[in-house]
This record gives sequence, C-alpha cells and structure tokens, in this order.
Amino acid sequence: PATNDQSNMLGEKGAVAAAGLAYKQPTMLAWSPGTASLLDLAESEGYTNPLAVRVFAGIELLPGMEPYAACYGGHQFGNWAGQLGDGRAITLGEVINSRDERWELQLKGAGRTPYSRFADGRAVLRSSIREFLCSEAMHYLGIPTTRALSLVATGAGVVRDMFYSGNARLEPGAVVCRVAPSFLRVGSFELPVSRGDQDLTKQVADYAIKVHFPDLADMSKDPADEHNAYAEFLRRVIRSNAELVACWQTIGFVHGVLNTDNTSILGLTIDYGPYGFLDEYDPTYTPNTTDMPGRRYCYARQPGIILWNLLQLAQSIAHLTGVPAAERELNAFKGYFEECVSDRWRQKLGFKSWADEQDNALLGSLLDSMQKDKVDFTNLFRGLNTVRVTGNDCSTSTSCVDVLTGLNVLPRSCLEESEARGRWSSWFGLYLERVAKDCEADAGWTDESRIAMMNKANPVYILRNYLCQRAIDAAEQGDESEILRLLKLVQNPFEDQPGMEEYRENAPSWSKRPGVCVNSCSS
Ligand code: AMP
Ligand code: MG
Ligand code: MG
Repeated sequence: PATNDQSNMLGEKGAVAAAGLAYKQPTMLAWSPGTASLLDLAESEGYTNPLAVRVFAGIELLPGMEPYAACYGGHQFGNWAGQLGDGRAITLGEVINSRDERWELQLKGAGRTPYSRFADGRAVLRSSIREFLCSEAMHYLGIPTTRALSLVATGAGVVRDMFYSGNARLEPGAVVCRVAPSFLRVGSFELPVSRGDQDLTKQVADYAIKVHFPDLADMSKDPADEHNAYAEFLRRVIRSNAELVACWQTIGFVHGVLNTDNTSILGLTIDYGPYGFLDEYDPTYTPNTTDMPGRRYCYARQPGIILWNLLQLAQSIAHLTGVPAAERELNAFKGYFEECVSDRWRQKLGFKSWADEQDNALLGSLLDSMQKDKVDFTNLFRGLNTVRVTGNDCSTSTSCVDVLTGLNVLPRSCLEESEARGRWSSWFGLYLERVAKDCEADAGWTDESRIAMMNKANPVYILRNYLCQRAIDAAEQGDESEILRLLKLVQNPFEDQPGMEEYRENAPSWSKRPGVCVNSCSS
C-alpha cells in the first residue's frame, strides 16, 4: 500500500510551482457502474462506501488482497529496453464473479514498486482522467480493452516535467483501478527469453494457457507436433490483436505508445497514455509528442507495428511452438486483419458485402479526399447516414454534397463551384451507384436496413482530445462534474443524446493551436 508522502519532498526546491491542490484528501471522483457490475459491486458503491475510497486510493487493503507488481520487459520504440515491469501498477488480486468470470484488479499510480526504477510510481490527475474515460469509451464502442472501475484523487501532489523541461510542476495525483481478465503482455514473454531462461518462458506460457485458454490445456505440448497448444495459443494472440488493430483503424483510435510491453496477449487495448482519436483525417496523426519527428506509432503504421510486436512474441516462444508453426501463424496475421478491417469498413459504408478491389478503391478515394479537405473522420462516416437511394432529399451526388456541407461535415468551399465540390460530388456519384447496386440485388435491402447497420458502426460521439482536456481543466479546479458528464456520454456513443449536440461537433479551432491539447509520455 502506498503512503501519500509526495508533498514532503517538494518544499526544499523553490523551482517547483506549487499551485494549491483542489483535493486535499482521497476523493472518489468517478466510478464506473458498468465495471462495478462485472465485480458484483453495487452501481454506486464507490460513492456510498467510504472504504472504497481508501481501498481504491491504495491506502487500505481488504482481507484476502495480496498485492504484487509483475515483472516484464519490452521493446520501446523498436529498441530492446530490458526489464521494465509494473512501475506504478499494483495488482490487488482477482475476483471471480457470479458468472464465473475472472477479473484482475490493478491500481495504477498508487506508489513505488520494485520495478519503479528512477520514477515515483505515481500518476497525475490529467492522465488518470484520460485513462479512466477512454477505457470505458472504448468498451462501449465495442473495442476490446482493459476496463476502469474508479478514479480517485489522492489529495497529494506529484512532481512532473522536471527532466523534460527543467521546469518542475506540482500536479494533483490520482489512482485509477483498472480491471481485466489478465494484464499479461508480449513483454511478459520477452523478459525471461532475454535472460536465456527458456524454462521460465514455458512456465509463463503454461500459466497463460491454463488460466486464459483452458480449452487448449489438453493439446500436445510437443513443438514437433504441427498443431500443439503453444502454436494455438500464438494463433489466438495474433488473431485477437489483428482484430483489435482493425477496430482501432476503423474507429480512428491511435494508441500512441505501441511498445511490446503495451501489447496484450488477450488483444485488449492496454495502457492509455498519449492516445488520441482522429479529428480531421490524417494518416500521419501522432498524438504522442514524444514520438516526433519519427512518428513510429502514427495512425497508418499501427497494423504493421502490431505485427512487429507479435513477431517479438513468436520469436520468444518459437522453442515451444516450433519454428514452422510460428512462421505459419505470423503469416496468417495479414488475412485476419484484412478480413476484419474490410468487414468493419463495409458496415461503416453501408454495403451488403465487400468487393475487394472496387470497394477498397472507393474507400481509398474517400480517405484521400478527407485528408485533402481536412474532414472530420467521425462526423463524415456518421453523416453518410443521410444518403438515400429512394426519395429525393439526399439521393443525388450534388444534394449529398449540399446536405453534408450544411451539416458542417464537408468544408464551406463545397457550397460554390470549387475543386473540392467537384471531388466530393464525383465521389458521391460513385457511392450512390454502389449503394443502389445492393438494393437492386436484394429487394429486402432498403435505406432503412442499411442505415440501421451504419448507425451501429459509426459513432455519434467519441472521446475527443479537447473534451478530455476540458474535463481535466475543470477537475484540476475541483470540479469533477465534466468527467461524469463524459462518462455518461461515452456509455452510449451510437445514439443521439438530447442536450449533448455540442459534444458531436468538429473539434474547435482553439484545440488545434500548437501546445493546447498535446500529450507526451509525461504522466
Ligand atoms: P509506458 O510507456 O507507460 O508503457 O511505461 C513504460 C514503463 O515505465 C513501465 O514499466 C511503467 O510501469 C513505467 N512507468 C511509467 N511511469 C512511471 C512512474 N510514474 N513510476 C514508475 N514507473 C513508471
Ligand atoms: Mg505500459
Ligand atoms: Mg503508460
């Protein structure tokens, strides 16, 4: 358990700009009712039970909790970084709920662990708010992720940015309780291998199979067998991560720090740091300022990076799977990814099936135009639900352009004769033809059925960076109401929510000014 001793180490150094901290003692800022229900906890337990604040601030243990930090290694930005480990994550234990599901509870930011290295084991409020909200946002978008149960302000200060800028700041500290069936990652396998300990690697793999893939436990463990348990384990890790990155690409999520220690063996989105959702479509979008100018982890590179991370896993366990099986499973990644990603684009565009060459070209030219005209990714796809094959509101290429410009999805320049208008009306011409073809082939396939499908694939609301930033600014002044408003918003992202119209608008221009909504590895 942590001690809230951070404020003591400040005083001496006059350089620390110590603003008054809004929260003077541990305070439950937010509690996710959805995650609570996974643990058979009451929807409001976090607010009503004073013990919850202490437990989830990391200052009290419940009977049966045996905290530990896990040891793992990782490749950071493509380089082997050696041992890393849970530097600020502390597992409290596992809950097996009434549905017999296993959930591990982990505090992030509760203080030093044996793997904290030079750092303090703490987390600042701003990054904890971001992790809490995005974990839940991703879940309700239907994207595999670790969950978040609670967000507690510790009441203590945390010093940040002294190494980056030489300009230390005292920031409010916080702890998130995150929840997942497992936090095992690629780096959990890389570390024992790097030490030449193949037997320990096998123990980790056997543990993962026994607990998380029990249906594989009876398979052969002989690497000479083509279809042994380890090869099947590798196949599942590869498949779930291929599906995960297909989700990211089609929802416009950029993780920001796709190191191998942040790649889950269950294919969960894990470790929310300097992530971001696309506003204007830009394949080079890189939310992490620490990743400049290389942009290793930009939007367009994520599928390739995930494959690279999976290669590190395959190499780590090749002595268990056998080399031919490892190669075979890695080669299957591309097929899994393409199958999943094209099915998701299909739903977003509203097609009955995906005709590879033709539909990829149509999607490609859409994305090209979005990039040229700085079109908002989320609002463009949602806006396609205005297009009709029948009726005459939005059923010609020019009326589509007019309607979407009126909705502020396409740039104002599309209202007059311009290059942009020409580009978009020719795209809508092709799109209308494509959509009509589906209707001609199947009389049961109507505007209504198409749009119902699209509305489940294209969210109205995403957790835009600037929305998070507004919630952070208010919370740093002691007002957590915006966090709660966003939590409610992200729980229902596919439906219009009355009174929340402002939250679906394109990101405002102030949020794009240099230095306003930037995130780095400092957290
Ligand atoms: P990340 O880039 O967030 O995946 O973190 C990389 C490594 O640094 C992990 O081993 C973290 O546990 C560790 N780490 C990050 N922040 C802190 C901190 N404030 N205190 C201790 N360890 C940290
Ligand atoms: Mg990490
Ligand atoms: Mg992190």
